[in-house]
Amino acid sequence: MAPPRVLWIYPSLYLLSSLLLFHALSPCRALRNYPENEVTLLDSMSALADLGWEAYPNEGWEEISVMDERNTPMRTYQVCNVMEANQNNWLRTRHISREGAQRVYIEIKFTLRDCNSLPGVPGTCKETFNMYYYESNNANLWFIKESQYVKIDTIAADESFTQVDVGDRVMKLNTEVRDISNLSKKGFYLAFQDLGACIALVSVRVFYKKCPLTVLNLAQFPDTITGGDTALVEVHGMCVNSSEEFEAPKMYCSADGGWLVPIGRCVCKPGFEENKDVCQPCRPGTYKASATDAYCTKCPPHSSSSQEQAVECACEKGFYRAETDPRSMSCTRPPSAPENPISTVNETCVTLEWSPPRDTGGRGDITYSLHCRKCSGDGRKCMPCGGSVHFVPRQFGLSSATVLVTDLQPDSNYSFTVESQNGVSDLSPTPRGTVVINVTTSQTVSVVLKERRSKDSVTLAWQGPERPNGAIVEYEVIYYEKNQREQNYTVLKTRSNMMTVDGLKPGTTYVFRVRARTDGGYGSYGGEIELETSHEDVFAIGDPNQSTILAVSIAGGIVLLIFLVTCFVVSGRHCGYIKAKQDPDEEKMQFQHGRVKLPGSRTYIHPHTYEDPNQAVRDFAKEIDASNIRIERVIGAGEFGEVCSGRLRVQGKREIYVAIKSLKAGYSDKQRRDFLSEASIMGQFDHPNIIRLEGVVTRCKPVMIITEFMENGSLDTFLKKHDGQFTVIQLVGMLRGIASGMKYLSDMSYVHRDLAARNILVNSNLVCKVSDFGLSRVLEDDPEAAYTTRGGKIPIRWTAPEAIAYRKFTSASDVWSYGIVMWEVISYGERPYWEMSNQDVIKAIDEGYRLPAPMDCPVVLHQLMLDCWEKGRSDRPKFGQIVTILDKLIRNPASLRELANSSACELAKMGVNLAGHQKKILSSVQSLQTQGTHVQV
Ligand code: AMP
Repeated sequence: MAPPRVLWIYPSLYLLSSLLLFHALSPCRALRNYPENEVTLLDSMSALADLGWEAYPNEGWEEISVMDERNTPMRTYQVCNVMEANQNNWLRTRHISREGAQRVYIEIKFTLRDCNSLPGVPGTCKETFNMYYYESNNANLWFIKESQYVKIDTIAADESFTQVDVGDRVMKLNTEVRDISNLSKKGFYLAFQDLGACIALVSVRVFYKKCPLTVLNLAQFPDTITGGDTALVEVHGMCVNSSEEFEAPKMYCSADGGWLVPIGRCVCKPGFEENKDVCQPCRPGTYKASATDAYCTKCPPHSSSSQEQAVECACEKGFYRAETDPRSMSCTRPPSAPENPISTVNETCVTLEWSPPRDTGGRGDITYSLHCRKCSGDGRKCMPCGGSVHFVPRQFGLSSATVLVTDLQPDSNYSFTVESQNGVSDLSPTPRGTVVINVTTSQTVSVVLKERRSKDSVTLAWQGPERPNGAIVEYEVIYYEKNQREQNYTVLKTRSNMMTVDGLKPGTTYVFRVRARTDGGYGSYGGEIELETSHEDVFAIGDPNQSTILAVSIAGGIVLLIFLVTCFVVSGRHCGYIKAKQDPDEEKMQFQHGRVKLPGSRTYIHPHTYEDPNQAVRDFAKEIDASNIRIERVIGAGEFGEVCSGRLRVQGKREIYVAIKSLKAGYSDKQRRDFLSEASIMGQFDHPNIIRLEGVVTRCKPVMIITEFMENGSLDTFLKKHDGQFTVIQLVGMLRGIASGMKYLSDMSYVHRDLAARNILVNSNLVCKVSDFGLSRVLEDDPEAAYTTRGGKIPIRWTAPEAIAYRKFTSASDVWSYGIVMWEVISYGERPYWEMSNQDVIKAIDEGYRLPAPMDCPVVLHQLMLDCWEKGRSDRPKFGQIVTILDKLIRNPASLRELANSSACELAKMGVNLAGHQKKILSSVQSLQTQGTHVQV
């Protein structure tokens, strides 16, 4: 019978093939090293004894032991019942414990014969087999029903026998891997079902995968068995020794045993640094203060660490570390004493200044504190000053090396101790660095002697302080009419001990005060001296009869003046205008500040002559504490920024309204200098018709210039707004004020260069004041300024021909501009030369053309304008003369009645220089007094 023969033939055939197979397998056995992330649960090849697997039925799978090339026995299972139909042969492993793994892998190596290669096998021959598993907690099951198994897969060979001839055949081994997941019981059994194939099962290896222990970012992650179907296992790391969590470390263990997505990290504790996944202590001489610092660093200067693991370095003797100092900062020490102390006394105030200490102790947080003591005359006994003395900005914790001390007592000795300190001064037992500044507040000018007085002048003499606190530089005389103290006072300066003040009103009581200025600053004013000017020059002081006569005649004159003014008002300035009542302040304007001789009067100092422009600001402008200023609203725009109005609170004085010019942000050094130059110039002036500088703010931003507030703003706008609303006397009063201010400037040798109505400010009393003193103003600021052929920028319509032609700017060219201002004022803000082009203006002036009289312009005023516009600059009147002329016109209002007639205007329009055809107004005005109210032109 054929079947038994086949049975006999095939096992032997198979055995032969198996022997050949082991030659092919032997290298695998020799190198049985599994990957690091695989844990083997069962390996048939490494079993030395019987595998103990169940085969069913008996004639099915057969265990065969073969020797490998090293004579080590190997267990294999074979089956080859291909000649018989209805095969169902099972081979079941013993119980395999899963050791906690949820997913296990089965790797099988086998050979499988190709049915075609077997001669005479029936169609029932198979070329596949099935693999099953059964989960169970029981490790000793002796029987499992077929239906209880779960199928893993049907396995087919990649390579199979292709030839029957086995003698010289090269056999190939198939390797297949399958996995089972979501295991939950203690273990499982594997089973192989053969349905009629010829198979040799050479090896079965069961394993699971794990993510191996690893250290990453100083966190250790343990061996982790991969998950079941849920692919990633989240694992939390443990910080390695001497490290701490910076951010909770975690990673994910993937299904194939790899670590993924590291998050968080540990960092070495203070005193330790990282080195190849471990934290090692800092060596002596180094330290690590914070866990987040990467490495140990060298101790900073003046500190050291003698032990390992230092978290900070200890300061050397005499050096300290403040609580808020970072550990990386050098140890520091208290500063040395402040140096070069200077005091500047100003009446009962003193400004103390000093240089920072030479040794800052290595820190930048130096502050100063002051201690004040009042001392006896011989300086032996000193007592604390108490609360009556004030320090600006403060007494303790000053950051700048200067302080203003106010409210001292005059003629007293003070001793100020300036102490320097820094952030470690409190830690040091050594006394603080100090410097002492002894100050004597100035004495008053003791005796003021009245020397002589006349109708319009007074001569004073005085004795200087007995013990001045330095060489006397000059004396300052201040005077005012007794009943007009607030608005009208005049300040004069002289180097001598006497002064003649003239230009005063007859029969008027004036109050005089004198103070001295030394190198150390201003002294206090001496007492008030009241003096009444006499009624006639020749009268001696105190002659009551003569005084009475003079008073009567003055009173008569005033009655006459009032009569004339009334006539003028009634007759009217021109038709169609409602006549405004004359402002009561006008009289004040007219008579304020008579012409005075200034013995030793000052000359203006150009800020450019200072090597350090900031020094000019310090010399001429008072520094104001910004906290004393309240800005209220924006009133205009200047070249350097906004102009605002606001209030200034000055200690011990009532709050005043001020204008605040600020320097816009982002300025250059030059812009700051130019901006402040206006203050350095303005600060040198002290005149009721010059805008008064209150001070500057330079120590904080924005930099500001504070001036008195002029309620009615600039004159040109003001006049346009009030077209036709003023009496001619009021207009002349304004012009008189401007001329007086200009006289003051020219006396100080200051040339304005841009005198125009737009640069005059008007206050609520209609007092006009000259403003706009910046260095760059003519070039940059004035919208009227135009470039000339010589390259300069000049406000052509206001400028004298010689200044346009060859930049000859003098007080005489200012007089020309003043004539234009007169024209602007009388025409209520009309534009000079209307819409003529600049070129046409230059040409017309050169050809002798002059502006005609504005509507309703008194002929005398137009004549004065024409005088100001004389071609030859020496032919023009001086400001002093202009003031005198205007004063006289005001006193004789009738002189203003005759209006410039149309023919004169026509002549002017035709380009005829009226000045050349008319009698000089100067002489005609001078004759006014002699001729009563008649003016002859
Ligand atoms: P300025 O930069 O000096 O030309 O000032 C610009 C504008 O601000 C002027 O035209 C005035 O309208 C206004 N202004 C400047 N200073 C004062 C002041 N002291 N009082 C009132 N308004 C002022």
